[in-house]
Amino acid sequence: MSNLIVIGAQWGDEGKGKIVDLLTDHFDIVARYQGGHNAGHTVIIGGKKYVLHLIPSGILHERKLCVIGNGVVVDPLALKQEIDGLEGAGISCKGRLFISNRAHVILEYHRLVEKRDEDGRGEGRIGTTNRGIGPTYEDKMGRRGLRFCDLLNPGVLRQGIEASIRAKQAALPTPAGGVSVDGLVAAVQNLAGELSEYVTDTAELLNRGIDEGRSVLLEGAQGTLLDIDHGTYPYVTASSATAGGACTGTGIGPTRIDGVVGISKAYTTRVGEGPFPTELLGALGDQIRTAGQEFGASTGRPRRCGWFDAVVTRYSKMINNLDSLVVTKLDVLDSLPEIKICNGYRYKGELLKSFPPEIEVLAECLPEYVSVKGWNSKTAGIREYGELPQLARDYVARLEDLSQTEVSLVSTGPDRDETTVASPNSRLSRWIPSIR
Ligand code: GDP
Repeated sequence: MSNLIVIGAQWGDEGKGKIVDLLTDHFDIVARYQGGHNAGHTVIIGGKKYVLHLIPSGILHERKLCVIGNGVVVDPLALKQEIDGLEGAGISCKGRLFISNRAHVILEYHRLVEKRDEDGRGEGRIGTTNRGIGPTYEDKMGRRGLRFCDLLNPGVLRQGIEASIRAKQAALPTPAGGVSVDGLVAAVQNLAGELSEYVTDTAELLNRGIDEGRSVLLEGAQGTLLDIDHGTYPYVTASSATAGGACTGTGIGPTRIDGVVGISKAYTTRVGEGPFPTELLGALGDQIRTAGQEFGASTGRPRRCGWFDAVVTRYSKMINNLDSLVVTKLDVLDSLPEIKICNGYRYKGELLKSFPPEIEVLAECLPEYVSVKGWNSKTAGIREYGELPQLARDYVARLEDLSQTEVSLVSTGPDRDETTVASPNSRLSRWIPSIR
């Protein structure tokens, strides 16, 4: 039994939802460890589309347990709506969904503060989703956050809400943002009561599960370049989206993890602001955006599109110690006569040796491209790697070579079945022998 981490190797939206869904069959428990309902996984099963923001897509599989770990920040209202939506579609969360009693809670004023902060940044906007996630992590780090275990204790809840609102007074549009403390305490207690059957010590649950021989798939949200420490700061998310976050965000020790799988598109996208060296601003970018339907699952925002960036994937490999790479959306490039891959950044004439921490430097980096011939034929929906055109396989081999990471799977469409196994002897196949 293996415990694996699946993370985004780029700026998020790599198609992790589909791949996690595909891998879930081979695990007993799926756990999320960071972020909040700003993530938007789209999973298509048998033509039916599910968009999940908070609950792991493992919930769509019978008998799998799903965990929202302590590192996730949870909006109880959004969670309740997601549970109700699933129940409405005939998918029960009872006895299968577990929320950490240490997970921090997003409340109304967190959203107000985020909007206020983002509006105040003007040109320097970060491009946040205005769901209160950043301010909730700020409260967590400021040691004035509220966790699920605090919600059912009215005294602690009231004190926590008051302390948090006091700290934000200056940022709120009206005193307390027009939020009534009494009203908020009552509403949160009500919601907490409804959710209490799902709340538990998930670190205990996960570690006991591993002790008893169960396997855990740890599902990252966003991507490596959006990680609070290793991403393109400050244009990042407020949490640890890299593999390290899986341990702190669940309470599973690092030596219990067997491997890390990175997900990357066959090109690159980015939502929101921040430097993006391989961005295509003209018609080619529009073509990829249309072909790839690159619009945010949570916000509907158009994603910026560009060429595959091997500097980014090499960096991701290092930060996460990636064992294996899954390449998604190969089909999106089907009609391009020529495809480019960035293999280095030139800054003021010098070829950089490592990924720069300064966004001003990154913004001025000129990508050094390797150019390859496009396959110009349909790969969409192909399920056997050998049936991909030779030029498409050459392209994947080039990505593997330049990323210095083996490619285990290549995805050719949004459906679970539209996936090919690039190598029967990949590390992924060693952990999951039936993937060959
Ligand atoms: P995530 O947050 O990393 O799960 O990514 P999203 O779900 O936001 O975005 C990925 C989008 O691409 C979803 O709409 C998927 O259904 C879709 N998708 C995933 N893999 C493929 C693929 O190989 N080809 C195509 N055309 N679409 C894909």
